[in-house]
Amino acid sequence: MHGPGGPLPYDRLLTTTGRIANTGGLGLDAAEVEVDEQGRVRIDERLRTANPRVYAAGDVTGRSAFTHLGGVQGASAATDALLGVRRRIRYDAVPWVTYTDPEVARVGVTSAEGARTLTLDHDRVDRAVADGRTDGFTCLVLDARGRIAGATVVAPRAGETIAHLATAVRLGWTPSRYARTVHPYPTYADGPWHAALTDVYARLAGARRLTGTLLGLRRKVRP
Ligand SMILES: Cc1cc2nc3c(=O)[nH]c(=O)nc-3n(C[C@H](O)[C@H](O)[C@H](O)COP(=O)(O)OP(=O)(O)OC[C@H]3O[C@@H](n4cnc5c(N)ncnc54)[C@H](O)[C@@H]3O)c2cc1C
Repeated sequence: MHGPGGPLPYDRLLTTTGRIANTGGLGLDAAEVEVDEQGRVRIDERLRTANPRVYAAGDVTGRSAFTHLGGVQGASAATDALLGVRRRIRYDAVPWVTYTDPEVARVGVTSAEGARTLTLDHDRVDRAVADGRTDGFTCLVLDARGRIAGATVVAPRAGETIAHLATAVRLGWTPSRYARTVHPYPTYADGPWHAALTDVYARLAGARRLTGTLLGLRRKVRP
């Protein structure tokens, strides 16, 4: 197998066959519910099918492949259909977790799509050092306005660490806003926190240079 840096060593290769929607015998035509060429139910942004009195949620829509997202869609469809509450689902802030060892968790845009990244290897995370699990890393992806638009964490229990980052992506936090939350020590959550702090420190260093320049100017004007 080849990666961007050359051959990638591996022990085993795991492949999956995928899943298909089983909508064939449901008589959806009679209900005026449309499906695509793969049998997935076509929905709009409010989860309504071609028949606006019928909603669909979960894997059958082709917009979800996760239990957590299917659940949110189901709740959203039910409240919209029954109460008229229009909740917008933010698909860009849905976390993904691959339960390997270490776990691979990500949310939002990838490093290829963002404007800037902050990466912290986990040899700087004390919990990882204590556990002898410094093989992981945290990568925060910032958009052009400096907000956290995506993140990847590779570490034991990364699926739990990603939850707070999903909040950050959904609410468009900057690294300094993220770093304002006190994180418990020593945990793997220190990874994203320290990655965010590197950005805060870089900004402070810039501010120190500006302060130094201003103080120098002041001394010249009023010695
Ligand atoms: C091996 C595997 C591992 C997974 N691991 C994870 C994970 O770790 N985390 C995660 O978030 N997601 C995981 N998923 C995905 C997750 O299982 C699905 O996203 C989730 O179950 C979708 O829920 P659903 O209700 O839309 O569909 P389903 O859970 O598939 O439920 C659909 C139901 O409809 C029934 N049904 C199907 N066709 C018909 C029919 N014609 N008439 C009547 N009933 C019908 C089925 O029997 C089933 O009970 C995994 C999926 C697989 C296959």
